[in-house]
Amino acid sequence: MVIVMREDASEEQVQHVISRLIDMNFDIHRSTGVNNTVLGAIGEVHNIDKRNIEVLDGVSEVIRITHPYKLVGRTFQPDDTIISIKDVQIGGDEVVVMAGPCSVESASQIDAIAEVVKQAGAKILRGGAFKPRSSPYSFQGLGEKGLQLLRDAADRHGLLVVSEVMDKTKIPVLLEYADILQVGARNMQNYDLLRQLGKARKPVLLKRGLAATIEETLMSAEYLMAGGNYQVMLCERGIRTFENYTRNTMDISAIPVLQKLSHLPVIADPSHGTGIRNKVAPMARAAVAAGASGLMIEVHHDPDNAKSDGAQSLFPEQFAQLMRECEMIAQAIGKHLGQGAAK
Ligand code: PEP
Ligand code: MN
Repeated sequence: MVIVMREDASEEQVQHVISRLIDMNFDIHRSTGVNNTVLGAIGEVHNIDKRNIEVLDGVSEVIRITHPYKLVGRTFQPDDTIISIKDVQIGGDEVVVMAGPCSVESASQIDAIAEVVKQAGAKILRGGAFKPRSSPYSFQGLGEKGLQLLRDAADRHGLLVVSEVMDKTKIPVLLEYADILQVGARNMQNYDLLRQLGKARKPVLLKRGLAATIEETLMSAEYLMAGGNYQVMLCERGIRTFENYTRNTMDISAIPVLQKLSHLPVIADPSHGTGIRNKVAPMARAAVAAGASGLMIEVHHDPDNAKSDGAQSLFPEQFAQLMRECEMIAQAIGKHLGQGAAK
């Protein structure tokens, strides 16, 4: 249930409504918008007569939500969420680019890649230290050492850090080194992990599951927000279909669909979305044109020798070219790629 307060409602009236809702066993999530306050009341609504809340002073409207998700939806928060991390804002007019290797492999590798992605205009360095590999015999990542190398390289080149958290026991170490904690596609429905990340106070990038519907993706984001973590980004990274010419099917239409339903920023990952180097740039350009708030792109200075996902990693010069193209596309729809994009 969502309670929209009147524009002129006093703080005292808001508090009174909150305490009445708590008495009725609801969990309250407050969103203070530009014009008014909106309260999300999570709990059992079947036996509640909503008129008892409508009559309270300062209440404008009480809406029963038919979607299974509440906090991630636009009824609870009509305005776009903008996530601020240091001097980077995700969800506004800037298309924020996260780039880097699939996996952190060594100090020299991550430093070389950090340098080229920064120069091309990326704001955030990606790199996996704990890797979810389909085979237990494949490279599993450098673990905490990889996170240290990633953080050092990012700091040296003035970048933020995003890296994957694979299980809840690793949340503290990710919180120590990363600015954004990534939940991978294979973990989108690991509800225990989501519940724990709901208690974290750092942004989370939630990737769509391999075969997850849009509603299931939003429900997973709801777990994070229900725990009190409102800094959530959604990421379209391709879904599994009957098509074999690409690794996954990049669902560009998910971008506007998610944006209509949710106020959360939507990031597009065409690297995992296609799995093929020469398909990454066309899908990245399409994602920017479709309105994505950001891109996640795998880049490697020596992809032929990458320990994971070399076949979908862009060469540095391909990435720089893509950034120039995306800058033009962003500008065509009233956005920009940000200062520093290679001209
Ligand atoms: C990744 O970004 O490194 C990754 C493993 O992605 P996904 O979870 O989308 O497969
Ligand atoms: Mn990868």
